[in-house]
Amino acid sequence: MEFCPKCGGLMLPAVVDGRKVLKCRSCGYVKESNNPGNAYRLEEKVQRHPLDKITVLDVNVSTLPVVPFKCENCGNDKAYVYEVQTRAGDEPATRFYICTKCRKVYREYA
Ligand SMILES: [Zn+2]
Ligand SMILES: [Zn+2]
Repeated sequence: MEFCPKCGGLMLPAVVDGRKVLKCRSCGYVKESNNPGNAYRLEEKVQRHPLDKITVLDVNVSTLPVVPFKCENCGNDKAYVYEVQTRAGDEPATRFYICTKCRKVYREYA
């Protein structure tokens, strides 16, 4: 929580010209928000759900082979299989299973 340097009023988040700022509720003083909270939260989300990032990759699942796979999310028994070569060629590819029904992504660790 931040307080106005001018009048000591409570600074509230506001959007001015598309920028996120803090604005004093009492006198209207505007301070550029350098709050790293949003960026940090985004990073945290990506780390906690690394597979969410994969799902937004431009993968055309209709071209992927379908294999038997039990989806814990919806109970479906088929999934597209998608392989990603993570590092140099001597590393085994990481395999992802994408449920054909709910599109939940599972990662298989080699
Ligand atoms: Zn103020
Ligand atoms: Zn599913």
